Amino acid sequence: APLAPFANEPLLELRRGAERTALTQALADLDAHLPLRAPVIVDGAERGGLPRRSVDPGRPERVLARAGDASAEDAAAAVAAARRAFPAWSATPAAERAAVLVRAAARLRDRRYELAALILRETAKPWPEADADVAEAIDFLEYYARQAVALAEPRELVHVTGERNTMTYAARGVAAVIAPWNFPLAIPGGMVAAALVTGNTVVLKPSEQAPACAAALYDALRGAGLPAGALHLLPGGDEPARALVVHPHVHTIAFTGSSAAGRDILRKAADVVPGQHHLKRVVCEMGGKNVVIVDADADVDEVVPALLHSAFAFAGQKCSAAARVLVHADRYDALAERLAGAVATLEVGEASVFGVDVPAVIDPEAVERIARYTAMAHADGTVLAQAPLPAAASAAGGTYVAPLLVAGLPADCPLLHEEVFGPLLTIEPVASVDAACDIVDASPFALTGGLFSRSPATVAHVAARTPVGSLYVNREITGARVGRHPFGGNRLSGGGTKAGGPDYLLAFVEGRVVVENT
Ligand code: GLU
Repeated sequence: APLAPFANEPLLELRRGAERTALTQALADLDAHLPLRAPVIVDGAERGGLPRRSVDPGRPERVLARAGDASAEDAAAAVAAARRAFPAWSATPAAERAAVLVRAAARLRDRRYELAALILRETAKPWPEADADVAEAIDFLEYYARQAVALAEPRELVHVTGERNTMTYAARGVAAVIAPWNFPLAIPGGMVAAALVTGNTVVLKPSEQAPACAAALYDALRGAGLPAGALHLLPGGDEPARALVVHPHVHTIAFTGSSAAGRDILRKAADVVPGQHHLKRVVCEMGGKNVVIVDADADVDEVVPALLHSAFAFAGQKCSAAARVLVHADRYDALAERLAGAVATLEVGEASVFGVDVPAVIDPEAVERIARYTAMAHADGTVLAQAPLPAAASAAGGTYVAPLLVAGLPADCPLLHEEVFGPLLTIEPVASVDAACDIVDASPFALTGGLFSRSPATVAHVAARTPVGSLYVNREITGARVGRHPFGGNRLSGGGTKAGGPDYLLAFVEGRVVVENT
């Protein structure tokens, strides 16, 4: 039977007592079973030991998972296995591959509370965001399943008498997926689903901070009937990722992460190495420095909560997060004051506490990086507000940093131009919306952006002038929903593919045309 039209997975209503109870219970169940295991898996079989650890960033002595430490040899074995499995998997009808994704989505749905708890513990992602992560993973599976079935239909071409022309899309080969920790189920889930459903076989290298979430994704797909040869799992550090990028039998690399790492991958993937008979394709989703423009006619009551959520939810650890507010000079004092008041009352604390705004950041390295920018804020600008750190949470060794609102920075301050990936927001007055657009246009990043304006003419003008991948008007600038808000950046923020959009699967296939004189 054909699949029902796609609809986004509804988010849990977390104000309901029953939902909170179910999530809290799931967390207790998870805690009782720690540590989990996240081994290297090639061809369905475990390889090597479990020397690595992932931990709860809010309480690092809580070990989430013992994980494998894949080597370059493991990567080579995984690629060889994926290559062996490619002929059969790519020849499987698209509808059958899609059915595997739909069954995997059902498995994630069945384990929804448990998976939200796992995400919360492994990345300190608070409940609303952890729940949205599971929902987004389900959405990617369901959405790409439908897209792949449509893509398997021959394309419409111009016809002339006596000639039969067909164009189809075929799987490319082995895809390497290199995933981040900040959407530990949704982002690897999306990239893996896209590659698999189009008939590629996949080697997944999850983030070293979130191997257990990747193992849960692997289990859902295998449990849904995915053949062992179609997906291989390489938890570990940089070594397996580097080996995959330069491997002659990897055809596609799907990456989400930092700009520096993305550019390194693009450079290395450009080399054709001995034994390689194709050009590699890189799907890359990198950083941002996302600006929100607030015009003089904006409704401050609407702006403040949207900015708080965009900049500080999950401690600002989203590439879509708001980093820089440019507000019309007429409204600057009012907004700066209101925003400062709101930032000062942000609740920093354990991700599992309902209502916590800002959890621990991912690891000590993140604390150091953010501390460098915080020092810049204090030295070169005016700190308008800083939320207090909870003594109890920090006492547990959690990697907490204080959310900050900063003004008065010199125009060339790195804090205005570099991605912090933490809970820091800057605010500046501008003479006009056009002056703000000039600043946006001068940035090498173009991922998300925001505009608050009551004027349709201003909205149209800014939309036309703004190079960002996604411009959000009169709302928060994070939380793209699959199918509704295709997500991906321009300029140095990414290669231009749009995850969760109608064209994304094209990155994972190659076109083939047959011209037949009849
Ligand atoms: N898609 C996410 C959002 O819209 C951001 C993904 C990322 O941080 O990589 O908020």
